Amino acid sequence: MSPASTPSLLSVAGLRKVYTTRHGDIKALDGVSFDIAPGETLALVGESGCGKSTLASALLGLASFDTGTITIDGNATTAHSRWTKMPPRRDVGVVFQNPQSSLDPKMKVRSIIGEPLQTIGVRGDALTERVTELLNQVGLGPEFVRRYPHQLSGGQQQRVAIARALAREPRMLILDEPTAALDVSVQAQILKLLKALQAKSNVSYLFITHDLGVVDYLAHRVAVMYLGRIVETGPVSDVFTDPRHPYTRALLDAVPVIDPSRRRQQAPLDGEVPSPINRPSGCSFSPRCRWATSVCRASEPQIFEEGQQRGYLCFHPMSRGESGSSAESS
Ligand code: ADP
Ligand code: MG
Repeated sequence: MSPASTPSLLSVAGLRKVYTTRHGDIKALDGVSFDIAPGETLALVGESGCGKSTLASALLGLASFDTGTITIDGNATTAHSRWTKMPPRRDVGVVFQNPQSSLDPKMKVRSIIGEPLQTIGVRGDALTERVTELLNQVGLGPEFVRRYPHQLSGGQQQRVAIARALAREPRMLILDEPTAALDVSVQAQILKLLKALQAKSNVSYLFITHDLGVVDYLAHRVAVMYLGRIVETGPVSDVFTDPRHPYTRALLDAVPVIDPSRRRQQAPLDGEVPSPINRPSGCSFSPRCRWATSVCRASEPQIFEEGQQRGYLCFHPMSRGESGSSAESS
């Protein structure tokens, strides 16, 4: 875990993003704030549609955001209009879920990995040398420079995508479900590689996933998102053993447990994620929450901080070792 005194590499403050659609406005990001220290992995978890990819796009400068500030290594970008985007950055790399669609099928590996280097003037033998070095870092031999993506397995393709993301030695990688499309055994190898790369280079990761096993293995801290807001954040070990937000509890309960005596009886999550257009009033989790009371339906909880490291948005946080909430359930 990074000590609280370490200056952040990435700092996101009050980020908001609304998509205007024919059916109404979607608050994809509704005041998102967090920090990542150098060499730290923050996992971002939450069900599909909660805004994870929108956040990644805003950080990468691929999409605009409406309000808020993104600061990377001391350089701040503050939204002044709906069209504010991060400037293109050399110090943030990205790996997407699906290597088939992120790697150009007509390009050889040398060009795929070399492209971000060519844009900064690396050419010829120097380029081949650097590409070979990057391939070596991700566990692939020099013979791969001449191959096309379709000649590679899914795991090899994702290694190439990681090598490309690392080409300009970014201080941070955004990994948007990078192993979700891979077989379990290949997944494990890629996660191990990412861990080793971080240990060597002190690169920071924002790791987007809905696999809590992956979070446990790779991340130092976790941020749980629900409908555009971070509803709980803290060190992985604390949040997983002692969640405060009922939604975090529900996500943890939904993880299959092999030992039947540890299996929980209750249905982990009632109901569907509400439509992001017609959001419920008050706490947006309240319609699915077994412990919601009138206050939850009437007003939105603001962040409750617990020490320097933990925070949650809940009027009735769960307490240690409890499977219910501290509120009376009715
Ligand atoms: P996640 O990655 O967590 O699945 P997304 O960031 O992709 O979530 O989406 C968040 C919300 O914004 C969803 O309700 C989604 O339908 C909506 N959304 C995403 N991209 C667009 C877009 N380009 N136009 C309109 N709505 C969008
Ligand atoms: Mg997504």
